[in-house]
Amino acid sequence: MPALDAILFDFDGVLTDTEPVHCACWAEVLAPFGVTLTWECYRDHYVGVDDREVMRELAADAHPPLDWQVLFAQYPAKKLLFRERTLAAPPFDAGLDGFLAELHRDYKLAVVTSSSRLEIEALLVAGGLRKHFDTVVTAEDVTRHKPDPEPYLEAARRLGATSALVVEDSVNGQAAGRAAGFEVLPVTRPQDVPALVRARLCRVARSL
Ligand SMILES: [Mg+2]
Repeated sequence: MPALDAILFDFDGVLTDTEPVHCACWAEVLAPFGVTLTWECYRDHYVGVDDREVMRELAADAHPPLDWQVLFAQYPAKKLLFRERTLAAPPFDAGLDGFLAELHRDYKLAVVTSSSRLEIEALLVAGGLRKHFDTVVTAEDVTRHKPDPEPYLEAARRLGATSALVVEDSVNGQAAGRAAGFEVLPVTRPQDVPALVRARLCRVARSL
């Protein structure tokens, strides 16, 4: 196995979990319409579901039922609230800064995300983490998105990396990493990432 020269991180679900923030922002803008949205309900039914579909279901479940388009019209307000809230309190675990600094001593690091640069760069800067990444590949930087390998290949090209470890939570993201020809470390929640990555790198060190 060739020595790893780079570690490529997906963003949402790997470096942070913004779903509770999305839920809280929707709950706030929908409350004036009599809609109650709890985290338990959002987590169990709406994570990964298109926002229009979520609004259709919430509107149909309301008493009396509401016009879903009235609820979806709150989307710009929800986006603004999300940006304000995440920039004011970046949702990163406290140990992430030290973990990334430690990795960056030995590996090139990148974020590879399907989200927009506007959202991701600002959040990384606000969280004090941008300095650890040699590059950030966002939706605007590629023509094909995960599960296509292009985002991971673009990151490797920028880093001059040939043997990367891809850290991903989603099926599409893991498929993209494998299609790019890289090893994929699957994770299910951000708080597990430092231990899983360290365990993987420890195996590399022992095999040398
Ligand atoms: Mg993800």
